[in-house]
Amino acid sequence: MTGSNNEILSFDVAVVGAGPGGSTVASYLAKAGKKVIVFEREVFPRFHIGESLLPHNVPLLEELGLLPEMEKRFIRKYAANFSDRTGARTVRYPFAKAISKKYPYSYEVERSEFDQMLAENAEKLGVDLRSEWSVKKVLFENDQAVGVEATSNKTGQKITVRSSIVVDASGQSILMGKHLGLKQKSALKTRAAFFSHFENAERDPGDREGDIQIIAYRYGWFWMIPFKGNTTSVGAVVNEAFLAEREKGDDMDASLWRAINETPAVKNRLKNATQKWPAKSIGNYSYGMSRYAGNGFVMVGDAGAFLDPVFSSGVFLAMKSAQLASNAILKCFKRNDFSAKQFKGYEKCLRGSQKLFFRFINGWYDPAFLDLFFLSKNILGVKSAIVTVLAADVFNPRYLWTLKFGIWLMFALATLHRWQCKLFRKGSRSLIQQQPV
Ligand SMILES: Cc1cc2nc3c(=O)[nH]c(=O)nc-3n(C[C@H](O)[C@H](O)[C@H](O)COP(=O)(O)OP(=O)(O)OC[C@H]3O[C@@H](n4cnc5c(N)ncnc54)[C@H](O)[C@@H]3O)c2cc1C
Repeated sequence: MTGSNNEILSFDVAVVGAGPGGSTVASYLAKAGKKVIVFEREVFPRFHIGESLLPHNVPLLEELGLLPEMEKRFIRKYAANFSDRTGARTVRYPFAKAISKKYPYSYEVERSEFDQMLAENAEKLGVDLRSEWSVKKVLFENDQAVGVEATSNKTGQKITVRSSIVVDASGQSILMGKHLGLKQKSALKTRAAFFSHFENAERDPGDREGDIQIIAYRYGWFWMIPFKGNTTSVGAVVNEAFLAEREKGDDMDASLWRAINETPAVKNRLKNATQKWPAKSIGNYSYGMSRYAGNGFVMVGDAGAFLDPVFSSGVFLAMKSAQLASNAILKCFKRNDFSAKQFKGYEKCLRGSQKLFFRFINGWYDPAFLDLFFLSKNILGVKSAIVTVLAADVFNPRYLWTLKFGIWLMFALATLHRWQCKLFRKGSRSLIQQQPV
């Protein structure tokens, strides 16, 4: 049925948002023959933060037929390189040293280009993508989501879509979470990030050019993510103490440069670099949801949870959750049952892997763990376990027990190290953080 100002359409699946989560779930479902519509409020290409992918993104991109494009457009990332603020202590984690050697690299991507590529690929697979349309309302009948109402940003025209299932892939807008009051505070402390892109930042040579650089300093840490060409993304993650100590009137650029100026490892790499645009910032980005699905709807990616950016797990979890959700949705169609219980397995699997990442992230902010992180020895497989998490091989039941043992050992050693620090009166700060400023 079509009206002049309120069209009513019928689809198998309605997706909110065409970020990595939305485009991926739509692509898998369209490939399986489902009629899918995606609403995206922005017009692509558009800037988005989250530019470093993990090796286990690669099989997902392969399944979507995008590896040749990835090779053409983006630089390979073979390792994550961690250093202290002066650059004196460094440790490199090459993905080839993970427990499974199957995916030894990933990519660094400008999200404007990457997200557009994913969305265009979804369209090629048959998805009806409506850009510059905002979903304002999810429609419910008797506690069951039955579709969405979208409004054109340009004309104000409305479309009502009736669908068997609604996928919320709205990212940090958390459409369903807000509507149903499901958002939960994260156990992680409040942090913020200031970031920009730079031309001609110094890089490591050869195969190491695409390494992500993570630099720890007293208020948090930096990322330096090199793209193909000469642009590098630089961001400072800061804690509450940094925000409290800022000068009154410090804008985003001043905040970014305040952090850079006290971190020689970053400052040196930016010696001959030019900042491309004024710094942006984002804060309060960690949260969870009390559930990821309900009758007739499911959340993927950041619409369900966002942990922390330190191990670059966001885009991977968005795309992996999209793949898992698409499997669950296809089962719903087979059983003709779209109730919440169909998504129990999906939620369990996702929460299990998030737990592993969460332990590591918490560890990163724990001084004793941080010191061990900078050890170069592979004591009883601890380093392989770390690389395995950094590569996002956290859904693989074959290695799960080896991985869990490695992680358990890492935390046991961190506890011993904490006692050692106390005994020798080194205080609670880590060796990395104790460097003079
Ligand atoms: C400081 C910081 C650094 C990060 N660094 C990394 C990193 O290095 N690597 C990494 O993997 N991840 C990183 N992330 C995380 C990453 O940005 C996200 O996890 C990822 O973008 C999630 O993808 P998504 O598809 O769920 O959401 P998004 O990418 O946010 O996509 C959601 C889309 O939905 C659209 N939308 C929202 N509401 C509506 C609506 N009502 N109607 C229509 N459209 C709508 C939005 O316009 C958007 O395009 C970082 C995050 C932060 C905060």
